[in-house]
Amino acid sequence: MRIVLLGCPGAGKGSLASLILEKHHIPYLSTGAYFRKEVADNTDLGKEIKHYMESGLLVPDSVTMRVASKMLEAPENENYLLDGFPRTVNQAMMLDELTTKLGRPLQVILNLYVKDDEVVYRRLTGRQICSKCGAIYHTRNHPSKVEGVCDVCGANLVIRKDDQLESVKIRLNEYYRLTEPMVDYYKMKGNLIELDAELDSEVLLEEVNSLLEKYK
Ligand code: AMP
Repeated sequence: MRIVLLGCPGAGKGSLASLILEKHHIPYLSTGAYFRKEVADNTDLGKEIKHYMESGLLVPDSVTMRVASKMLEAPENENYLLDGFPRTVNQAMMLDELTTKLGRPLQVILNLYVKDDEVVYRRLTGRQICSKCGAIYHTRNHPSKVEGVCDVCGANLVIRKDDQLESVKIRLNEYYRLTEPMVDYYKMKGNLIELDAELDSEVLLEEVNSLLEKYK
């Protein structure tokens, strides 16, 4: 099963991805998670992209494509859940080309949409992430049992630099400028499945699971 999960910042891609992976054991490919690790490890790539990541800008397509191609070409990644890639029309077109060349065409393209920007601001500006295992919390919607401490592994919770208000504004702007036209590209191709990100997560998951049944 080859799934792409699209959605604006704060739509809940990461949380839905975790729920999907509990049932469908396929590799999780996230360019954002990959980039974050490169920054945390202070590698050459990390140094190159840190500024983009922290300010909420998209990493240039040339860099992103190099990373995504490596992930998608790996023999063990014949099936996958792709999160956060593609994010521009250019990336989507290159993804089509690559998956055709590999003989592994995309099967399901899910778009988590949010109607109201206020919802995005509310969600992103309370988000906390575990500095060790990456578990996601929210100060209002899903607080940890002990404030600032991860329920899963006990490490400290942090707020991502790109979840701070100024970066959130830039991320949303980047989304409307570069990513929304890509969603339209998939709509025009006719293979996009729209999901209301404001639905209760159980309801959303049920909807997704029934959609995925036919690709098992
Ligand atoms: P995410 O965790 O998916 O929200 O990604 C975090 C950050 O990584 C984004 O705000 C971008 O700076 C960068 N990033 C992740 N995926 C891409 C992509 N496909 N194209 C460009 N930049 C990306």
